[in-house]
Amino acid sequence: MDKVDNNLSNGVIFPKGDVLPPQFSKNFTGTAYLHMLVPGGNEWNCPIGNVTFEPGCRNNWHRHPGGQILLVTGGRGWYQEEGKEARELHPGDVVTIPANVKHWHGAAKDSWFIHISIKTNAHKGPVEWLEPVADEDYKKLE
Ligand code: MN
Repeated sequence: MDKVDNNLSNGVIFPKGDVLPPQFSKNFTGTAYLHMLVPGGNEWNCPIGNVTFEPGCRNNWHRHPGGQILLVTGGRGWYQEEGKEARELHPGDVVTIPANVKHWHGAAKDSWFIHISIKTNAHKGPVEWLEPVADEDYKKLE
């Protein structure tokens, strides 16, 4: 790891938090970390978490019944909706994910990646987790 990667792995802006608990990590390839900034189940009804992905880590295909917003704060990563080209992500990028659109997000294979995840319309229900991103498709992304 070079200096930049070590810096990113330490959280950059918000704390890196802990390795994802098993109920989330089973839906990821590789290791990711979560630090909740605003928990759910309160009057704001808008859980916000800082998610840090190790190089090569990504989540499975999934859908959010109430949508999701990603604010990229560190590293380099990818966002892809089903049937579309993957979008390369850098700090400062904002991704607005409509409700029930099948997608995945995660790190580039050679970089840590950090985003803030905002769960919008949280009352509409939990994430629907689907199959992993195929290795052969992920490995094509440079
Ligand atoms: Mn998502």
